Order: sequence, then structure tokens, then C-alpha cells
Amino acid sequence: MLDLYSFVADVPDYPEPGIVFKDITPLLANADAFLQAVEQMAAPFADKGIDIVVGIESRGFLVAGSIAERIGAGVGLVRKPGKLPRETVSVTYDLEYGTDSLEIHADAFEHGANVLIVDDVLATGGTLAACKELVEKAGGTVLGATMLIELTFLGGRAKFDGPLNAVLTY
Ligand code: AMP
Repeated sequence: MLDLYSFVADVPDYPEPGIVFKDITPLLANADAFLQAVEQMAAPFADKGIDIVVGIESRGFLVAGSIAERIGAGVGLVRKPGKLPRETVSVTYDLEYGTDSLEIHADAFEHGANVLIVDDVLATGGTLAACKELVEKAGGTVLGATMLIELTFLGGRAKFDGPLNAVLTY
């Protein structure tokens, strides 16, 4: 087993002062580290009847495909407004300052599909909570979420009601 922590680069004060950005590009660039990360993200949900793995733009997309392939599911894309070409469902959520929105295709999955949400980093949990609301609005059932990194000191987990797996915790 590799020490995956050694493949995450801390970038202080990016993209703004006071934020330590978790740069996962060294992990993505190493074949063995990437494989181990994807396996650990997928394992708890391998036999849970997941139909669709929903990835959050944009780093969530990088792991969504690999996880879906491993657990025998399809992939759904949650994107920033205006990026999806057909009819969408959208959700707006509060940021520290202002609001943001996320969209998914209205027919991204069948009504009642079992959905796993994936992303690279869980920080305050606002994005994950919004994504869950979005999936439910589109008719899906969220069976859980899996993250590469959880910033536990921000308490984002409390905003998600359901099984939440994180490979690396800080
Ligand atoms: P949040 O809604 O606060 O949980 O933020 C989650 C989203 O912001 C994820 O899509 C992450 O990619 C990104 N993000 C938040 N904080 C960080 C961080 N410290 N390093 C890298 N990405 C982050």
C-alpha cells in the first residue's frame, strides 16, 4: 500500500489568503497511487446496487469514471450553470459570499436510480449537500458519497445525511 498523503501537495494561500489548497495532480499522475485511490473510494460501495456515479465538476469527473467502471455503474455529470446542452434541473446554494448553482441533465438517470456522489475534496460540505438536493430533484436516490479528501476541521460531514467515505482525512 502506498502512502497516498505523500501524493497530495499543500498549496498555502491559494486561491485566496488563508486557504490551503489540496492539489491532487501528483496523485493523478502516478498510476499506482491513482489506482489505489480509486479502489479505496469505490470499495465501500461495490455491492450496494449503485446505478449511477455522479461526479462534481471538475475534479470529481476524473474519479467518477474509474469508480463507475469498478462498481458496474454509469456516470452522471453535475456541472456549473450553462455547460450542459440539453434540459437541466438546477439547484442554487449559499456560499460564504453570494450564491452558486449546479446543474444536471433532467434525464441523467432513470427515476428512482441509486446514486453515488463523488468529488475530490469535502470542505464545508455545501457543494455535496447541494449535489444531493440536485440528484433528488432529478428523481434519484442518494445511497452515499465518496471523497478522496475530507477536511474534517471544517465539519462538512454534518451537512450530509448518509454513508460518507473519505480516503484521506486532515
Ligand atoms: P465545499 O462546498 O466547501 O465542501 O467545497 C468543495 C468543493 O470545493 C470541491 O469541489 C473541491 O474541489 C473544492 N475545494 C474546497 N476546498 C478545497 C481545498 N482546500 N483544496 C482543494 N479543493 C477544495
